[in-house]
Amino acid sequence: MKNTTSQTVEIHKAKTSKIDQVDFENLTFGKIFTDHMFVCDYVDGKWQTPKITPYGPMSFDPSARVFHYGQAVFEGMKAYKDDNGDVFLFRPDENYNRINKSAERLAMPEFPEHYFFEGLTTLLQLDNDWIKPGYGNSLYIRPFVIATQPSVSASEANEYRFIIICSPAQAYYSGDVSVLIEEKYSRSANGGFGYAKAAGNYAGQFYPTKLAKEKGYQQIIWTDANTHEYLEEAGTMNVFFRIGDKLITAPVSDRILDGVTRKSLIALAEKQGYDIEVRPIKVEEIIAAAKNGNLNEIFGAGTAAVISPVKAFGYKGEHYELPKQDNPYAAHFKKALMDIQYNKAEDTFGWRY
Ligand code: PMP
Repeated sequence: MKNTTSQTVEIHKAKTSKIDQVDFENLTFGKIFTDHMFVCDYVDGKWQTPKITPYGPMSFDPSARVFHYGQAVFEGMKAYKDDNGDVFLFRPDENYNRINKSAERLAMPEFPEHYFFEGLTTLLQLDNDWIKPGYGNSLYIRPFVIATQPSVSASEANEYRFIIICSPAQAYYSGDVSVLIEEKYSRSANGGFGYAKAAGNYAGQFYPTKLAKEKGYQQIIWTDANTHEYLEEAGTMNVFFRIGDKLITAPVSDRILDGVTRKSLIALAEKQGYDIEVRPIKVEEIIAAAKNGNLNEIFGAGTAAVISPVKAFGYKGEHYELPKQDNPYAAHFKKALMDIQYNKAEDTFGWRY
């Protein structure tokens, strides 16, 4: 309750905690937030003293540019607790670098590294009780930056707010998903900002995804905007295809997000001797493999679900079911990644923080 100051962060503690009102056995993803949040404003050309305050509503001028032009970027990462009560982040430097890469593309200022890490660790210390141990339980962390400058002039703002909020997440099994390979709409284009975690990239996916849902598919696998012949990524996941025993994923580009889970999985697969190729993948290659029985698995890789197996996909009005596997790669890599995240396996890559 006492207000204190860490080296750089001003701390205003919540008077009471909401934690007793939370049913940790029945969490809906991203709905409940912890007691505190991290806030830092950018004014007069520099980031001001960061603060940790009780979580709660904020007020903004209705003309704040984020509301009109979507000048906003974000990240998604998780904190994990092992059986000893120690808390770990997984490759947070990747998220730090990526939010700045996203910010640069949206003409926003870079956020200082020591603010990011001190803010994050101080916030997690304060809200430590919200991170539940147990395989699959985690605290989802959402850093984001928005343009707060009042004025509807269509140019980059000179005032911003950097915020971190945290939401407890449960081990969950969403079920294997059916995906639609997109033929008409595009998520990103050459020279665009598909590689950035920019708010607008997600808003633009909702309508095509709604149409896909009406056809019975939960997600879209996006194809390249020029030809729609090459497979790219899903809504919030990079995608892997297993043809025979070969694992293939598309290279990242200015259209595709450089996912932390994707790059970790590639590194693990290479180390474990899996046959893995990072190269452009044509839709017709997947269709041919599905028809001749060689397409064994498709799965998504991303922070929220780690690995999400695909059970079926649709393309040009045809529906393709994937065969059941006795030892799916999806399960193998999910366990291998989670064992590192939860401090159950040796961290040979130095990924735990
Ligand atoms: N692609 C997109 C478009 C995403 O939003 C995400 C989620 N951040 C991913 C891929 C997976 O990235 P990561 O493994 O870093 O969560």
